[in-house]
Amino acid sequence: MQKILIVEDEEKIARFVELELTHEGYAVEKATDGRRGLELAEQGGFDLLLLDIMLPGISGIEILRRVRRESDVPVIMLTARDAVMDKVSGLDMGADDYITKPFAIEELLARIRVTLRNHKPAEKTAAGVLSCKGVTLDADRFKVACGGVPVELTAKEFALLQTLLQNKNIVMSRNTLLENVWGYDYVGETNIVDVYVRYLRQKIDEKFGVKLISTVRGVGYVVKED
Ligand code: CA
Repeated sequence: MQKILIVEDEEKIARFVELELTHEGYAVEKATDGRRGLELAEQGGFDLLLLDIMLPGISGIEILRRVRRESDVPVIMLTARDAVMDKVSGLDMGADDYITKPFAIEELLARIRVTLRNHKPAEKTAAGVLSCKGVTLDADRFKVACGGVPVELTAKEFALLQTLLQNKNIVMSRNTLLENVWGYDYVGETNIVDVYVRYLRQKIDEKFGVKLISTVRGVGYVVKED
């Protein structure tokens, strides 16, 4: 039985969707605030998440961001009518689809079916090996190569590349990268992320003629599969 988590603070909508999904044969868990939603989402075990964006506690976008650090579980965002920015940032953060409220339940059910059908587990060449565009990173052996040619990286360059590859297709803000690679208590130049992206580009993009790391103006960086 496929299991769906719905995080929605409007009780009426949450109950209605739960009822309909149960009727369709899905197992359903429900959270009505962001914190509980994040807790359940992080426990995992779901085949799909339905995330409302405006939630008390933690927003749906933030839940999505945290879940995407370690999981590629399918996510459909529930957005208010005409909240274009929400849709854009949701999709940027790695949501699979969104549906605008109020919605017809048939449409939601159809989108759930399509999203579940299209979902393919993340690409993995071997345990602990991340790859994109011919660049491979072997975390266990601390090795990076491009087209099979070894690339020498410092520990911080390696950690930055690893974080970007782990979050492939997700735009990572400078702050998120800073927290992930340098730690929350980092004090120093805030443009350190840009400096290290430049190092990585010199050693990989420019040297091997690949476009691995893309800049998202005003936001941060992303490693994207073509
Ligand atoms: Ca809401």
